[in-house]
Amino acid sequence: MNFLVTGGAGFIGSALCRLLARNSQDRVVVLDKLTYAGSMGSLRQICSQPNFRFVRGDIRDRQLVSALLAEEKIGIVIHLAAETHVDRSIDSPAVVVDTNVVGTLVLLEAALAYQRSLPHAEQLAFRFHHVSTDEVFGDLDASDPCFTEQSPYAPSSPYSASKAAADHLVRAWHRTYGLPVVLTNCSNNHGPFQFPEKLIPLTILNALQGSAIPIYGTGRNVRDWLHVEDHARALAIVAKEGRLGTSYNIGGQAECTNLDLVEMICDILDQKRPLPWGKSYRSLITFVPDRPGHDRRYGLDTTKIRNELGWAPRHSLRSGIENTVDWYLHNDWWWEPIRAHRYQGTRLGLENNS
Ligand code: NAD
Repeated sequence: MNFLVTGGAGFIGSALCRLLARNSQDRVVVLDKLTYAGSMGSLRQICSQPNFRFVRGDIRDRQLVSALLAEEKIGIVIHLAAETHVDRSIDSPAVVVDTNVVGTLVLLEAALAYQRSLPHAEQLAFRFHHVSTDEVFGDLDASDPCFTEQSPYAPSSPYSASKAAADHLVRAWHRTYGLPVVLTNCSNNHGPFQFPEKLIPLTILNALQGSAIPIYGTGRNVRDWLHVEDHARALAIVAKEGRLGTSYNIGGQAECTNLDLVEMICDILDQKRPLPWGKSYRSLITFVPDRPGHDRRYGLDTTKIRNELGWAPRHSLRSGIENTVDWYLHNDWWWEPIRAHRYQGTRLGLENNS
């Protein structure tokens, strides 16, 4: 199978490419603009494999997308490219809408034209998988049941609104034009190669540097967490086997407040990299003014993907966070240049990724 992965140099896209490229029968073509969030270092492991190709380009470039689809005889598009930073979306919504909504529209138009040009059997086999977020559903109260695939959309931030708009376009291309699509909505991810401004790497790296660990508001906001390798495995399954025209929730069933999560990271670091004089990394935790419109709780019902496709996460929250902490402790070659480079920070230099 020939895959086109958009956003393959990002956090989740690169995990997916590392997984897909393991099968030498498959070909993995990445289209990525390499914005501040993309890194070739994340693809270092597979860059020189014969079944892998990287193309630097913009998903909004219709000509490039059409040429790639035809040239590489793509069978499955997995679309992850996006502006993914909630704080940045609050400060500069236009670029987020342009990439996430217009970019998805360009891909859909190119994919439909390409699919229609294929011989009948290949037309039937072609699939377009759109990767989205649980944030499209809005937020929950503590006692509310989790979101299912049928929950109404109620996005809060420009980021989640742009992802919701893209989801609707993808569904419309299925219903109106018959494009074979499948969608996934996933909860917060953690794991290797996540851009250092996001909550978990920010916490680990600030702690190691002895800097303040910022937490929005009271830290009581609840997120569901999933290890990125579990997400990548789910994406590979849904892309190939998911029921067309439908969506699947993907989550770890591992809800945790931001404060509990940060304290867990501090405790793991206390064991792995103890501070002198028995001091704890928890002493670095600093509460900062809350993000506008900050969602209280996300929680996903993942019954559908578990029952229909037999997927379940392999990492528990604790084992996933330990793995993530270990990775950052041992891979400064990847994050140090990014931290050293003065990337454009957010209002608070903090991303709760949700
Ligand atoms: P990321 O920010 O780490 O990576 C995004 C990638 O997209 C980068 O490599 C960037 O260079 C590329 N990109 C951006 N604009 C582009 C454009 N115009 N053309 C081509 N490439 C472009 O993002 P991520 O965290 O890996 O998220 C990937 C996808 O998964 C996104 O669609 C996001 O909405 C979704 N998602 C993320 C999470 C999460 O916790 N990170 C959870 C659920 C869903």
